[in-house]
Amino acid sequence: MKEKLANMSSFIAVVRNRLKIYISPVIESTGLVIHGFTTRGGGTSAGPYSSLNTAFNVGDEHDCVRKNRILICRALGLEADKIVAGKQVHGDRVQVVDNQDQGRGAWAFEDALPDVDALVTDVPGLPLSSYYADCVPIFLFDPAHRVVALAHAGWRGTVARIGLKTLQKMSAIFRTDPKDCLAGIGPSIGPCCYEINQEVLDQIKCSFSYWTDLVVPVYPGKWLLDLWQANYRTLVDAGLLENKIDKASICTSCRNNLFFSYRAQGGTTGRMASLIMLK
Ligand SMILES: [Zn+2]
Repeated sequence: MKEKLANMSSFIAVVRNRLKIYISPVIESTGLVIHGFTTRGGGTSAGPYSSLNTAFNVGDEHDCVRKNRILICRALGLEADKIVAGKQVHGDRVQVVDNQDQGRGAWAFEDALPDVDALVTDVPGLPLSSYYADCVPIFLFDPAHRVVALAHAGWRGTVARIGLKTLQKMSAIFRTDPKDCLAGIGPSIGPCCYEINQEVLDQIKCSFSYWTDLVVPVYPGKWLLDLWQANYRTLVDAGLLENKIDKASICTSCRNNLFFSYRAQGGTTGRMASLIMLK
């Protein structure tokens, strides 16, 4: 166990164009991709969306979100017009995208790819994106076949093992070997704050034989769930090497000054973006 922890590395924060962005060192060190997970400061939105909200479908002013997306793309060195996004329905559908999908969801939610929670591409210069307030962002990169992916995992996506399904799609289409892959599990609600009820617990039990490692009882009918560990173990089960997975272990609910949190803000809040693009 000690060795496992020693091998487990975290995300690091970088500041680009005055925006604080979290990156996975194991992915960044390849020099082959641009990626990052945004925070909530430095944007143009007000109220519960203050200030760097990146999602159009949460009740914020459209023009503020548009400006915020331009800011984050400028900070990362991406073209905002090319961003591809899914509508994110807490499902487990993985879509492979190419230049035909360029710009889907870049400037309007209605235009995003329907019924999609994970995106995969081998096209350089095509930025994939997904949007978060507590759910787990999973970044994947296969440097052998030059394929990138993003998966959005709330408890439903975690139970459905969306990380595994994304890897399976990468293997089926691009012959990805999970042993080659690098992964980042970004900032999201932690085992300190993510309280679940019996209904969710029952689904965790069905999906994970080692569910007792993932939940802690707090009081009758309530448990704390470790989504980070569930998704980490899912990637290891899928064949990823432990020293190739960065786990941020940063709780968005505890750090509500730095991140939007659905739980901490009672539902009305902005979204952070995860972005990844092959150079
Ligand atoms: Zn917490």
